[in-house]
Amino acid sequence: MKNKGILTVVSGFSGAGKGTIMKELMKNYSDTYALSISATTRAPRPGEVNGREYFFVSTEEFENMIAQDALIEHAQYVNNYYGTPKDYVFEQLENGKDVILEIEIQGALKVKEKYPDTVLMFVSPPNAAELKSRLEGRGTEDAATIASRLSRAWQEAQGVEKYDYFVINDVLEDCVKKVHAIIQNEHARAFRNQELIDTIKNELKEFSKGE
Ligand code: ADP
Ligand code: 5GP
Repeated sequence: MKNKGILTVVSGFSGAGKGTIMKELMKNYSDTYALSISATTRAPRPGEVNGREYFFVSTEEFENMIAQDALIEHAQYVNNYYGTPKDYVFEQLENGKDVILEIEIQGALKVKEKYPDTVLMFVSPPNAAELKSRLEGRGTEDAATIASRLSRAWQEAQGVEKYDYFVINDVLEDCVKKVHAIIQNEHARAFRNQELIDTIKNELKEFSKGE
């Protein structure tokens, strides 16, 4: 696979602030990034719009997408399906956009296995009490769902070392700057610049002729 854009997966405990960070990133650097919109069988939260936060689909529709190989990956998270539609991601990478998937850990690891050049980034609040208070403060889930999400957070924490980067979301603005800097620095990695390296090598070869 040869793409101009970089594929980044952002994961993090529910309530860590991923959605908030993504919104800021898209607001500040809209020309640079494309945010993939996942399909899910979970119900929309108040204020969420079909086709903006997610494509909200039935279980049957989701299973059809799996059967048609229309998803890069999919996973189950607290009793619902979530998955990444393929076409948009590859179109945007071809257009030179840095594409971000905001997905949970099982999906993240599947993407990395399929596309090893993917950057895996884990976002965390500064501590567990802050996580609980952000989840409660968001006010979008009932107490039982919050408890499931916190218990899932403990499970997800076991896999954090598999990520390339671990970013603390304490002061939002600092975190957004850091996420942007990490992804942009990735463009300078030698292995992502092989074509340029080959061109320069060839040009230099001309100089060395006749020496
Ligand atoms: P996630 O998408 O990871 O589940 P959200 O983006 O919905 O998390 O954030 C969870 C809650 O925490 C929201 O109410 C959001 O406004 C708040 N939040 C996000 N980032 C910060 C931050 N840096 N400091 C304080 N509150 C935050
Ligand atoms: P939420 O219900 O809070 O929007 O999302 C629950 C979890 O599902 C989050 O960890 C989120 O990152 C993850 N998620 C969202 N979309 C996808 C997806 O397409 N694939 C996978 N594997 N996880 C997703």
